Amino acid sequence: MTPARKKLNSHIILTLLLGSLTAALLVRAIFISADELLEIKSKTPVLGTFATYIVIAESEAAGTILSSMDSLARYLDNELGVFGDGELSGLNMRGYALIPELSSDMKYLLEKSLFISSVTDSLFDPAMGVLVNVWGFPNDPHFPDSTEIDSALALSGLKNVSISGDTLYLSSGTLLDFGAIAKGYTADRIYSHSRSLGARAAMVEIGGEIRCGGDTETGRLWRLAVRNPRGEDILEMIEIENGAVATSGDYESYFFDNGVRFCHILDPRTGYPEFGAASVTVVSDDAATADALATAICVGGIDTAANIPDSLFSLIIVIKEDQNGEIAEWRRGSV
Ligand code: ADP
Ligand code: MG
Repeated sequence: MTPARKKLNSHIILTLLLGSLTAALLVRAIFISADELLEIKSKTPVLGTFATYIVIAESEAAGTILSSMDSLARYLDNELGVFGDGELSGLNMRGYALIPELSSDMKYLLEKSLFISSVTDSLFDPAMGVLVNVWGFPNDPHFPDSTEIDSALALSGLKNVSISGDTLYLSSGTLLDFGAIAKGYTADRIYSHSRSLGARAAMVEIGGEIRCGGDTETGRLWRLAVRNPRGEDILEMIEIENGAVATSGDYESYFFDNGVRFCHILDPRTGYPEFGAASVTVVSDDAATADALATAICVGGIDTAANIPDSLFSLIIVIKEDQNGEIAEWRRGSV
């Protein structure tokens, strides 16, 4: 990840709503004079959060590319999200099953998940849907009783999942939940899609998971903020030209019980929310990897971060809170 060579010379800013896009898609366009390129920015709801896209492309193509990115996001949201009625819901509703003909997206997510699980001592686990439901995240977070947690744990874990070719084996009652990797993966897919349609550069951010990059001549240095998990301030800026950044933490979705914070990231070893870190930011080549690693490191903390293979990331930042509420930063690698 090298520094940017060139800053874009942009002027003439206008706001418009592209005809083919949904009304929810707010679009801002900037004409870039030198190459008759257009930069378009949009924000739209997807995967239970918001996505922001920035596309730099030839002016006549930019709107079509943006529209196509949005369509792909909606498709993947339905197929891979727990609230969709596509492939993931279908798998989860079938109970015990040998399920043939997985889509390439689902196969990739399962294989990637098994791999990330293997490098994080199984702390990344997308087969904990029953446990997530017992804790009520995201709509009704509450403290379950311990018998509910024990029963949910018995139905949870990648031990209940295997794949052979295009066929999935899923134990009866186990529910898949790709909440900790699907946003990153979707960002990767939408970014690659935009580039295959001719975008000279693009940035896709879905709920804090980011994939960005561009051609050498058009590309820019994307500046991405690492937020203080216990405040509104920004702790530092990360600058990358091509790659991905993901942040997970205990401050997005949580509740307090007797003064203790319980968040939506769960420890597969105990069935309880994690206490490994307040937030974790990972910079990798792709956002699926960064997203999944960030979640696993939230659970395992610095010990897990210290053992991630070098080839999977360029920077890991772990932010912890001590008993006095002070935050401390630990890092490995650089960008
Ligand atoms: P965010 O959704 O805020 O970006 P994450 O990427 O960490 O945060 O994903 C958290 C979601 O992933 C949870 O809401 C839950 O659905 C699921 N999940 C919780 N714990 C784990 C875990 N240990 N491994 C994999 N998925 C998890
Ligand atoms: Mg994640």
